Amino acid sequence: MKDCSVLSTLPDDPLCRLIGRAAFDRALTSYWTEKGFAELKAPRVGWRQIDLFMLFEGVRAGGGIHTVHQQRAFQPIAQQQRLAWTATNAGNALGKTYRKWLEPCEKLLAEAVDTATQSDLPKLDCFNPGEHIAAVVRSGITVNEIEPEEAAQFPEYVSALTDLFLDVRNHIIRKWWRNPTQWLSTEDIEQETPSEYTKLVRACFRFLHWRGKILFGAVPLQQLASYGVQSLARVLVIGGGIAGLAAARHLRACEPAFDVRVLEARPRIGGRIWTHRASLGQASMDLGAMIITGVRQNPLGLIALYQLRLHLREVDPSCPIFAGVHEVLDPELDAKIEDIYNSILEETVKMRQKLRDADRISLGDAFRKAMKQKLHQQPDQFQPIVRWHVSNLEYACAAPLEKLSLCHWDQDDPFGFEGEHCMVEGGLDQVVQALATGLNIQLRRPVQKVEWMNDTVRVVCGDGSVELADYVILAVPLGVLRDPKLLRFVPELPVWKRDALRAVGNGNLNKIVLLFSCAFWISHTHPDRKSAKLCSFGVACPLEEVAHDDGRFYMFWDLTPLIGCPALMGMLPADAADSMEMLSDDAITASAMQRLRLAFPEAPDPLETVVTRWRSDQYSQGAYSYVPVGSSGAAYDTAAESVDGRLFFAGEHTSRKHPTTAGGAYLSGIRAAYEVLCHFHETKKAHRSTDTPAVHRLRCKRRRTDGDIANDMF
Ligand SMILES: Cc1cc2nc3c(=O)[nH]c(=O)nc-3n(C[C@H](O)[C@H](O)[C@H](O)COP(=O)(O)OP(=O)(O)OC[C@H]3O[C@@H](n4cnc5c(N)ncnc54)[C@H](O)[C@@H]3O)c2cc1C
Repeated sequence: MKDCSVLSTLPDDPLCRLIGRAAFDRALTSYWTEKGFAELKAPRVGWRQIDLFMLFEGVRAGGGIHTVHQQRAFQPIAQQQRLAWTATNAGNALGKTYRKWLEPCEKLLAEAVDTATQSDLPKLDCFNPGEHIAAVVRSGITVNEIEPEEAAQFPEYVSALTDLFLDVRNHIIRKWWRNPTQWLSTEDIEQETPSEYTKLVRACFRFLHWRGKILFGAVPLQQLASYGVQSLARVLVIGGGIAGLAAARHLRACEPAFDVRVLEARPRIGGRIWTHRASLGQASMDLGAMIITGVRQNPLGLIALYQLRLHLREVDPSCPIFAGVHEVLDPELDAKIEDIYNSILEETVKMRQKLRDADRISLGDAFRKAMKQKLHQQPDQFQPIVRWHVSNLEYACAAPLEKLSLCHWDQDDPFGFEGEHCMVEGGLDQVVQALATGLNIQLRRPVQKVEWMNDTVRVVCGDGSVELADYVILAVPLGVLRDPKLLRFVPELPVWKRDALRAVGNGNLNKIVLLFSCAFWISHTHPDRKSAKLCSFGVACPLEEVAHDDGRFYMFWDLTPLIGCPALMGMLPADAADSMEMLSDDAITASAMQRLRLAFPEAPDPLETVVTRWRSDQYSQGAYSYVPVGSSGAAYDTAAESVDGRLFFAGEHTSRKHPTTAGGAYLSGIRAAYEVLCHFHETKKAHRSTDTPAVHRLRCKRRRTDGDIANDMF
């Protein structure tokens, strides 16, 4: 984490600074008005306006103007003001400004600031130091910098008074995180903050709410007024997976007077979050998404931990690999081979620059080339272990390396959620159920046709019933969107949209859960297991099979501590997932046992098995997305773009920063809801303007980014 401390004599607390700032401004204005200066405008250094309050506080913290001057200590003050540092320019400008505008009244200013903050101590006492930092980091934003999307909405705070904006924003977020299970209103914040900032507080509160930085997740929905509110807009959300539920809930939370309905094809919600309850002891097992990646920032982790207070189990990142009967690879050798594997991957990164047409080359091609060099002169026994690591990568990407773009397969790496990876005891569907509470969800309503040629969108379901909507959010999986036999658009989606949907890869991953009478593996995998973490182990393929190995059952999760009975979950990544879907459950079980018995010949037959087939499932059509050869992360953004101001898109495959994950799918739902909100309010505004209906329709028909749409909203 960056150093977030602020140069000031005041406690590092955003509310305290707001109170101090308001008192400072009043005292300064009154002093200079008396002297005959009607308006005091802070000077600029380059393109930034000096923030007089922060300058005053910076100098106070530095021991006063004489000390700062003598010690030539203006640099940190300039940095805090976000000024480009050149000793002569910034330092001189700050010094001059201080001497001219602040020094003559510095005693008076100090008294005003201190009195105001002291008298408001009871308000401030309820907050803990550093609480705002933890809260803002959780929200995935930077404590002391204005984010690009904030800058787009609040441009006036980019070149001046940035710290004022940040203090308001950080205080609101901190206040929400104090009690994230409860509703928070803008009035709650207004009551505490100086009245000078009410306008900013309101705008910032609404922005944070609409963007899903506060009041998100399972916070109870506000009831509609009992006398009945005529709905402002009809929104249909197609697909009751995590993305669709997030969108629907967010719309209801932000605009209680919207009529929001979710149409879900299956008899259950959750889509690719599917907690199965086995007949044996009602054990809950997640057959789709299972791991919350990075609980400290992943919205699902935050909902599970802070709102639902569910028990999470950390995933043990170590994964012993069996290379023979009861034979775990020696840790030193394991580390050595992993280093070689990593060096092969590093070599492929270098090839991005070196190879002509790198954009058209697969990671697989590059990997094979690099592997030849790096494995040359290494013992043959290394090969199955390197292949094991490749399978692990194919699990993460849901695609064979041959299909992944060399240049862009890892484009989302810089954006990963911070924190441990965890699983939820009792199943991830608890989060889904909480999000669904209070929503109008209609199950068994597969949508087959979306007619969007008129202002009102007609949605036709499998039973021929028709629903009308002003806005439709399509939160169905990529494979469904791409297949007109499953979902037809009339007229067809524009070419740019169809191209984008084709440019995102649609990968596969399957699982088998095996329930046993005893945990025969424990004494070999984790003999001295003390921690409550969730463990896994790998089984390498025999050397003679390495050329044909597709990674089937290369790894098993030990679900025993999670579900309370001896159970393993075997993984089938990418091509293995697709090819095994053709086989019967018995054949898949036999294949899993064959791999398992390479390490544990004594393994008994399982008592019960559960097998997934995510590709053949007509409402999933695969597991999650990847970046194929010839494509890039930009395809996700275009897949996310709305069409004609009426069709909006959510889902894992629309999340450029967090693709593949349930957390990313959730955030995509929030984003789609935000776009609808912006569009609705823009339309309302345009109706009030001088646009004729025809001009207005034309305006709406433009393809727009959410940045475009949202401008002028706040
Ligand atoms: C095996 C597997 C393991 C995974 N592991 C993880 C993991 O550990 N961690 C993680 O973060 N992510 C994981 N994922 C990915 C994660 O599950 C998805 O990214 C996420 O759940 C996708 O959510 P979504 O709302 O975009 O789509 P979905 O969950 O697929 O929701 C789409 C919904 O649309 C419905 N639908 C489809 N067609 C129609 C129609 N015509 N009319 C109406 N409704 C329709 C579907 O029934 C479904 O409910 C895994 C996925 C799989 C398959």
